This record gives sequence, structure tokens and C-alpha cells, in this order.
Amino acid sequence: MVLVLNTETGEGKIEGEAQPLPTLAGASKADLQQLLTGLGVPERQLRMRVSQLWGWIYARGVTSFDDMTDISKGLRAQMQDAVTLARPEIVSEQISQDGTRKWLLRLPKREHEARAPEVETVYIPESDRGTLCISSQVGCTLTCTFCHTGTQKLVRNLTHAEIVGQIMLARDRLGDWPGAEVQGSSAMLPEADRKITNIVLMGMGEPLYNFENVRTAMAIASDPGGLSHSKRRITLSTSGVVPEIGRWGAEAGTMLAISLHAVTDELRDVLVPINRKYPIKALLDACRNYPGLSNARRITFEYVMLKDVNDSLDDARALVRLLSGIPAKINLIPFNAWPGAEYECSDWEQIERFAEIVNKAGYASPVRTPRGRDILAACGQLKSASMKLRASERAPQGEALHTGD
Ligand code: SAH
Ligand code: SF4
Repeated sequence: MVLVLNTETGEGKIEGEAQPLPTLAGASKADLQQLLTGLGVPERQLRMRVSQLWGWIYARGVTSFDDMTDISKGLRAQMQDAVTLARPEIVSEQISQDGTRKWLLRLPKREHEARAPEVETVYIPESDRGTLCISSQVGCTLTCTFCHTGTQKLVRNLTHAEIVGQIMLARDRLGDWPGAEVQGSSAMLPEADRKITNIVLMGMGEPLYNFENVRTAMAIASDPGGLSHSKRRITLSTSGVVPEIGRWGAEAGTMLAISLHAVTDELRDVLVPINRKYPIKALLDACRNYPGLSNARRITFEYVMLKDVNDSLDDARALVRLLSGIPAKINLIPFNAWPGAEYECSDWEQIERFAEIVNKAGYASPVRTPRGRDILAACGQLKSASMKLRASERAPQGEALHTGD
């Protein structure tokens, strides 16, 4: 976020255009400090006040200043006038037959933006865990040829508050705050105490191209006095922004996933075009040097199964050879088709044969079960509605671009 505040008066409005008040949902400690300073809280009280607010916002998930019972009524009223606790606006919530949920969220429009940007967040429940897949950018500057997001131009980076806001909104809907109730359907939620046990940066965008905001957001998400998601259960997925990989490990320290998808530079240059800049060898060297890498903290290599493109048994053997010596997990992802895609998913028998070679090399159950396909919530299918709208404007005769929506 950027708390756009007048530090003299604590006013939260942007001059010129009528804008909604900024929200504290997703604020960093520095943001809170700036707010409180602007509201005239004396310096010696700042630390205590920030920590009180932090607990209410992130450990308890309150949505009203009235609930902040240990904060004086006067200060609560001042905050109420300057800021809100609003989550990102939900445009739609879809629940798949398998319990996967997808939220399309609308973010506040900035002055120069023609329309309010939209992003998607996906929740994937399993019996004993729940994974939240969050977006880091609206669209993506990269153009991986099998990825739906890659066909959408980058609109902008998300702020740290917009990234954290996705987690808070999902917690609201899933009843994942202490004492909270699920909102809407409770279908197929895990038995676990916490509904969101894992967070993956695998939604829209290349997180390492929005480094600072994603780092701040993950620091907020993993703060033990707040949202308290263990860094061991947060995974950043990258297409291979080599110069930022080691820095991410050192500064953020989450788990890492690499979108490998090909075993030769020739093919990876086509599928994941950033490979032309940072080829496979450089990528794997960065992986070998990832801070904290060990057998207990392996890097996940993602490999999308594209029929007759990268799915031969020779490819499987080459993959195993390529990764030897790196503490790794391999995730074979059945290609999730989207309207207009130029690839097909590999045949199931071929995926099994490929997986067998990978299994024999010591990697356990590597095929990722496709989830949420009926609501286009699966990996690589996320694409914002502003894009869909433009497409449907171009195809007024009702050409179905998103048959699953
Ligand atoms: N930009 C980052 C993270 C978002 S994509 C990255 O590329 O890693 C998350 C994962 O979904 C990546 O491994 C990506 O390659 C994969 N993916 C993209 N489109 C896909 C599709 N249509 N089917 C299956 N996986 C896909
Ligand atoms: Fe961007 Fe990742 Fe899609 Fe490539 S796979 S276009 S990096 S979101």
C-alpha cells in the first residue's frame, strides 16, 4: 500500500480526486507507525501502539476498529476517519466441485489507470491441509507460451498490502481467524485447525520482478505475532530470474520452486523465453547456491507435461540427470488447457511412464493432481477479468473464450 497519508493531520485522502480511504489490511509495521505518527501518537508510545494494532489486524483479523478494546476510543475514532480495515473487493467467488475456490478481486483504481485492475486468488483444500495460491502482479511481462497469464500484458505490480490482502480475504471467507466462522459454503474444507496451512506464490505474475513488495508481504505473512505462516510453508515460484534467486533466499528465506519445463535450452527458449537471458546452466547454478538448501529443504522443480513437446522418456532421463546433486523435488504438472492454447496435455499413460522414470530415480509421487479445472482455477489459467472483458468486447457474437467461467 502505500498509505497515502498527510503526516501532519493523519488524513488519508489523496488530494484532487475522491479516493476511498486507505486500508490497514496488509499494512507493514512502518505503515502503521507512519499512520500513528500522523495522528499525533507520542513517539514513546509508538512501539506499543503498533504492536497492539498488529495483533488486532493480523492475529485476530478484526474488521472493525470498535473491536480494538485496548485502544482508546479517541484514537479509534481518529483511525476510523483516516483509514479502513477493508479487504480487496470480491468481484466473484467460484467453488469447484472438488472444493477449490477462486476469487476474482478488484483492486483500487489509481489515477492513471483506465479501469480498476483485477487479480485472482485460488484456495486448494485437501483432507489435512489447505494451500492458498496468491498473485504478485496483474498480468505478467513474461510470455511463456503455455501460460494463460503470459498472454496478458503486465498491468502493474501489486503493492505489499494487496498481496497480503489476498491472504486476509481468504482467511475471512474460510473462517480462518481465531473463533471465526466460515462465510458462505463450508464444502470440503480440511479438518486441520488452520484452513490455510501453505501459501504458494504461483498465481498471476513473476514474483521476483516485484521483489521488494513480495518480500515485505511475506515478512508480514510470516510474522509470528501476526498471520504467522511459517516460511517453510511459503513457496515462491519463479520462471528463473537468476540474479534475484540467491537474494530472495538470503532476504526472504522461503521455499523455492523453479518452473523448469524443459531439459534443453533450445526448447526452454521457446516455452519459457526468459531462458534466452538466463539459460538452464545459470539457473541450476543459482539453485545449487540457494541459501538454506538441504535435503530437508529441497527446491521444487515444476515440469508441465506437454504432449509430444517435452514428454518423451528421453526427456525424463535427461531431467533426472540434470538435477542430480541438487536436493530437489519434481512436480509433474498436467498441462491445463485454456481456450486458444497451442499445446495439449500429455496422454495419461505417457505421464505415468515419465513419472516412473522420475520415481525410480528417487523422487516420490511427483504428479500434481489437477484441481479446480471446472472453474479455470488451475495453474497457469489465471487471467484477469479486465482482459476477458476486452476479449468479449472484441467478440460480441458470444465466442466463448472462458467456457468454464
Ligand atoms: N511466474 C511464476 C509463478 C506463477 S506460474 C512462474 O512462472 O513460476 C505458477 C506455475 O504454473 C509455473 O510453474 C507455471 O509454469 C505453471 N503453469 C503456467 N501455465 C500453466 C498451464 N497452462 N498448465 C500447467 N501449469 C502451468
Ligand atoms: Fe509469467 Fe509464470 Fe506465466 Fe511465465 S508461467 S508467463 S513467468 S506467470
